[in-house]
Amino acid sequence: MARHSILALSVSLALLTGCETVDTTQGGAVGVDRDQRMMVSSQEVDAGAKKAYAQMMAEAQKKGVLDKDPAMLKRVQDITKRLIPHTGVFRQDALKWEWEVHVISIDEVNAWCMPGGKMAMYTGLIQKLNATDDEIAAVMGHEIAHALREHARERMSRQMGTQLGVGIIGALFGLGELGQNVAGQVAHVTLNLPNSRLHETESDRIGVELAARAGFNPQAAVSLWEKMAKASGGGQPPKWLSTHPSHEDRINDLKEYSAKVMPLYTAAKSGAAAGK
Ligand SMILES: [Zn+2]
Repeated sequence: MARHSILALSVSLALLTGCETVDTTQGGAVGVDRDQRMMVSSQEVDAGAKKAYAQMMAEAQKKGVLDKDPAMLKRVQDITKRLIPHTGVFRQDALKWEWEVHVISIDEVNAWCMPGGKMAMYTGLIQKLNATDDEIAAVMGHEIAHALREHARERMSRQMGTQLGVGIIGALFGLGELGQNVAGQVAHVTLNLPNSRLHETESDRIGVELAARAGFNPQAAVSLWEKMAKASGGGQPPKWLSTHPSHEDRINDLKEYSAKVMPLYTAAKSGAAAGK
């Protein structure tokens, strides 16, 4: 019994030193405000993302699917460039991230942003949904929000938490091992594992605010999701959508929050007009 308590004590000490509660972002106008428990450092996650992204883009280049259409690439880059300056509303350090975006020729309705601002847009999303600039901004804003909120880091931390239950000793002595394949984990979490409903909702809300501040009509998030719902209506929804909030819940929430940030959009539009 005594030995048991010593073990329990060392486990909780390890948890105390390895775990921190953070709030990755400021609330913004949409007021996303939730403490997050992290067991892996953002430095480790960002370094892993950088490595994974470089490898993946090199692979895309080799396969001849990287930035094939210069006009489409420029369109996506221009939209991204308008969004990024507004990330500072949620976190100042994001203004200094090494943001990067590429367009990959894959006939799949998808886009993603890895920790630290490494993004990809798939041609399938733009072509199949016949997406407008405002709708592309809605997608990018949403994906950028996942990175700002460090959802990948949070999910990796949660996975570590569940593993602790099975292998206490492993957790005590094996934490260092994570560093060796953290790049693979970041890529897996960003591309393969569906986000939780909570993470999706947070990103939807922050996403419409980013779009509105950049002068993109935030209501395009609604039309985008209506198109998505239609596109996946006939058959199985795409894998990455399967545990997202139901289309109806999501569209209702987007309607509410895009209405909330409309004044920011109006202000951005009149500011842009005044500047001309
Ligand atoms: Zn998402």
